[in-house]
Amino acid sequence: MIIAANIRKIKQQIPKHVQLVAVSKTKPVELLMEAYHAGQRAFGENRVQELLTKQPLMPDDVEWHLIGHLQTNKVKYIAPFIHLIQSVDSLKLLETINKEGEKNKRVINVLLQVFIAKEETKFGLNEDELHELLAFCLNKPMQHICICGLMGIATNTEDKLEIIKEFNYLKSIFDNLKSNKKYEHILSSSHFNLLSMGMSSDYDEAINSGSNIVRVGSAIFGNR
Ligand SMILES: *Cc1c(COP(=O)(O)O)cnc(C)c1O
Repeated sequence: MIIAANIRKIKQQIPKHVQLVAVSKTKPVELLMEAYHAGQRAFGENRVQELLTKQPLMPDDVEWHLIGHLQTNKVKYIAPFIHLIQSVDSLKLLETINKEGEKNKRVINVLLQVFIAKEETKFGLNEDELHELLAFCLNKPMQHICICGLMGIATNTEDKLEIIKEFNYLKSIFDNLKSNKKYEHILSSSHFNLLSMGMSSDYDEAINSGSNIVRVGSAIFGNR
């Protein structure tokens, strides 16, 4: 019941327009079901194998988000059902997702992951790579992907000012892309709307900086 209480508390804290993704990595399906019974439908996993193990055991109306680094050879396993791939960090991956979307006769929603942290360990595109990727998409439109927004992970630090700086940086990139006429055909204003930033320790700051999807794990399910 603690999971239901945690979800209720977080939902009370965050504004209505912010979507809560419950990050369930390493947690058993029984705990995911507890969240499901509390009304939670969006779940985030960072590993394809774990997602594939859980997906058939959960109800069909769960929306699965992939939030971890994705290898191109694993795209085919999640392409039939994935709701949102939040961690697209290369053109090669984007093209593979488009191809698998075509095979499955669906449009796959993705976020481009932008590197905003001071650490070397986090995946993501830098600003130049982001523009290179989008320039390529302008010349070769991909019919089976929808670029719905951006995702970023802030530095793992106690320094709130640093974290806020990184969130504001990602928000400024997001706003620039959205208003950049050059990209209007691939980042249509009706679809390019999602800004995924904020986890258990920093979702408050992220929302203040403009996030509208938060990915919350330990504050719902407890420490891993
Ligand atoms: C694990 C993870 C989260 C959730 O982290 P918590 O601190 O447990 O909320 C969010 N985003 C990504 C990309 C993750 O890998």
